Amino acid sequence: MSTTTNLTETSANQAPAPVRKMCPHCGSDDVIHTGTMVWDIASQDWMVSGLYDKGAACNACDRENIELVDETAGVDAASPAGAPQDRPVSPTTDPLTIAYIALGAATALTAHRAKGGELIGGGELELIAELIRHAPMLDRLAEGKDFDGVYYYEVAEPFGKQVAERMVDGDYLSPQEAEAVASELIAGATV
Ligand SMILES: [Zn+2]
Repeated sequence: MSTTTNLTETSANQAPAPVRKMCPHCGSDDVIHTGTMVWDIASQDWMVSGLYDKGAACNACDRENIELVDETAGVDAASPAGAPQDRPVSPTTDPLTIAYIALGAATALTAHRAKGGELIGGGELELIAELIRHAPMLDRLAEGKDFDGVYYYEVAEPFGKQVAERMVDGDYLSPQEAEAVASELIAGATV
């Protein structure tokens, strides 16, 4: 564990260029790092006293124990998610993947409501927000594959429907479970 009094590491005689910490797998800057904190009497606040080795994780693709990548950021860069033009070009989550996952979910939600079902443990917004977090994983698994149908129709939409059907029953899939659903759909749709 490294000992540090704050989260930025800058050289004493160089102007500190702001950096963006990014996930090496999906390129998101929605990353976190676990560590220990000590109570500081002077500032009446918790201060970071150390960062755990292997403590970095990505909220976007749910990977843990990752090596964060530094990218120089503009002084006015927003954190953690900047404007689209500030985001890394590749790899990014395909907005159509997200759209078709949501379309599939809409089918599941409509069917669920038609049966008089309630949403367990949260509302529709929470369900959709949770569901589309799987989109980078879906794109990653589909990358470089040849689909005989269309990826959005054959994979993203049914993925959204199947996962949403389980979520309305209170079964929130782990990243591994969601990946298993995606893998099966991709296997069925590739040449
Ligand atoms: Zn990631």
